[in-house]
Amino acid sequence: MLKHSPEILMQIAELYAKESRATRAKVGAVLVTSTGVLIPGYNGTPSGWDNTCEVGNKTLPYVLHAEMNCILKCAEEGVSTRGCTIYVTHSPCWHCAACLSQCGVKAVRYKQKYGDAVESDYNFYMQDIKCQ
Ligand SMILES: [Zn+2]
Repeated sequence: MLKHSPEILMQIAELYAKESRATRAKVGAVLVTSTGVLIPGYNGTPSGWDNTCEVGNKTLPYVLHAEMNCILKCAEEGVSTRGCTIYVTHSPCWHCAACLSQCGVKAVRYKQKYGDAVESDYNFYMQDIKCQ
């Protein structure tokens, strides 16, 4: 199994955040499987769609969050998400937290808080989610 340091993994998430075309928040993530495979993602529209993320200051409803892009890539490629850890530049929204929990992601590490949820809220549902 490949071993990666948490610092390097967060730097990878930060690099992928730069790929986002969003203007309100550029979010990057990297999902690490139990065997060390890395699945990066960032917030944006589905592949092949016009990658405009906002109109005015309002995010379009079909913009996928970075965490969702990671787990959807796993679905597309047939990679199990059970037991994965995800590194994200921003704390996950409730929808992403629920999806990560439901698909077996065991741990979440984020760089900065975003939105109104706090770790104790998440920890009611996910055992291991914290700011790195
Ligand atoms: Zn989200």
